[in-house]
Amino acid sequence: ALALVWFRNDLRLDDNPALQAALDAGYVPVPVYIHAPDEAGDWRPGAASDAWRHRSLAALDARLRQRGSHLRHFFGPSLATLQSLIAMSGAEAVFWNRRYEPAFERRDAHIKQTLRAQGVRAESFNSALLFEPWTVRTRQGGPFKVFTPFWKAVLAQWQHAPCGDAPARLPYRDDGPAGVPLVALKLAPRRDWDRGFWNEWTPGEEGARAALDTFVDGALRGYATQRDRPDRAGTSRLSPHLHFGELSPWRIASALERERNARNAADIDAFLRELGWREFAHHLLHHFPDTPSQNFDPRFNDFDWAPATEARLAEWRDGRTGVPIVDAGLRELWATGWMHNRVRMIVASFLTKHLRQHWRHGARWFWDTLVDADLANNTLGWQWVAGTGADAAPYFRVFNPLLQAQKFDPDGRYIARWLPELASLPLPLRFAPWQDPQALQRAAPEYPPQPNVELAAGRDRALAAYRKLRD
Ligand code: FAD
Repeated sequence: ALALVWFRNDLRLDDNPALQAALDAGYVPVPVYIHAPDEAGDWRPGAASDAWRHRSLAALDARLRQRGSHLRHFFGPSLATLQSLIAMSGAEAVFWNRRYEPAFERRDAHIKQTLRAQGVRAESFNSALLFEPWTVRTRQGGPFKVFTPFWKAVLAQWQHAPCGDAPARLPYRDDGPAGVPLVALKLAPRRDWDRGFWNEWTPGEEGARAALDTFVDGALRGYATQRDRPDRAGTSRLSPHLHFGELSPWRIASALERERNARNAADIDAFLRELGWREFAHHLLHHFPDTPSQNFDPRFNDFDWAPATEARLAEWRDGRTGVPIVDAGLRELWATGWMHNRVRMIVASFLTKHLRQHWRHGARWFWDTLVDADLANNTLGWQWVAGTGADAAPYFRVFNPLLQAQKFDPDGRYIARWLPELASLPLPLRFAPWQDPQALQRAAPEYPPQPNVELAAGRDRALAAYRKLRD
């Protein structure tokens, strides 16, 4: 008998419980992908995400073909498509791995219920998280709102789930509709603005595995101290691979545990803790499904954000604020689809505090431009920096972009890389080029002569708005 294996954000064969369950139950798996961006509600995938997905689906298809099968693509809606595939192929079951975005949780629950009512075996699995949101609870049985106790609870129940290997061969039957070619889904950009991405990234399971190996052999050593340095390749860059499910978190955890020794134990623990933030973000999104658009802390509903002007936002998006560390980050994002975590915090703080723009504007830009755009992680990141979130940095902690640059990019190399027009400026002028207008004019006549907000004044206005709210 046939079973549909409905691929979503689990674009891998290794350690894929839905695929494995179909095989274990003796079915011939029919791998399908259904393109239904409208079902994501307010959060249709952004452009960078689509560009990645196009390549990741192609990579998955290649892996399936090596094993005698292939991926079939269809247009949504998901439920109707599954139903017609079942009718046309005679499939008896549908297996998939769960997602935790509120719109998908609702949709998938409905699909499961409907299919079961029609006598179809419909089952879902965890492929994306170490621990699913409802399996970690406070002593009172509720959700966590603070990271440290959440992570403690996770560590207390930590038990390595065994990882399943990718099957060497897949049974195949040529039944049912063939679907449309991948290009018909129009995920790849029409103009190649994503050109710069693909020197940096290899979407798909093999690229993910290579990135993990590179990290374990390289940046893992010293991760605990180097992870904050955007001028060094000090982090794993696994985030897009994790988002698309090209690599399982338990696979990562077991690869790290195999390497554990006295010298790298602190680095491994620091890295697992970051995976823990990813878990926490999914926990919060599941239990507080309004937070992608609503302040977690409702007191901020009355906050005095500055009026949003398109010009202001465009300066920030394009990396033309006149503050080099901020502009460098936004240019890295545009060029590569990714930004270092430290710099994400700096640019987010600048937008929400110095420019006093609602975090929603920044979250939307990240959503469209990040290859790792992830509703859980992006929501947590923005609300954390803005001070409106669960367990957030307090609003009154305003990142000083100059001090941040001096501390985390001490040689100005990150700035020079992404703002080459400033590379000839000596340090510390490169951090604050407005301090010598003539040198700046000579080196970079196009670069803004002044920051678009005077830093001290911007900070004071943010704190004043906060005091108004508090009092
Ligand atoms: P590493 O340091 O190697 O960490 C390993 C993995 O842990 C990451 O791949 C990621 O899955 C997870 N992780 C690390 N830090 C965090 C964190 N703070 N929160 C949640 N998970 C984390 N991450 C996304 O994956 N998608 C987003 O859309 C996203 N938006 C963000 C927005 C803002 C404003 C901020 C401050 C952070 C955001 N992050 C987001 C979190 C973090 O910046 C990235 O996960 C990280 O930079 C990815 O690089 P890496 O894989 O080299 O990280």
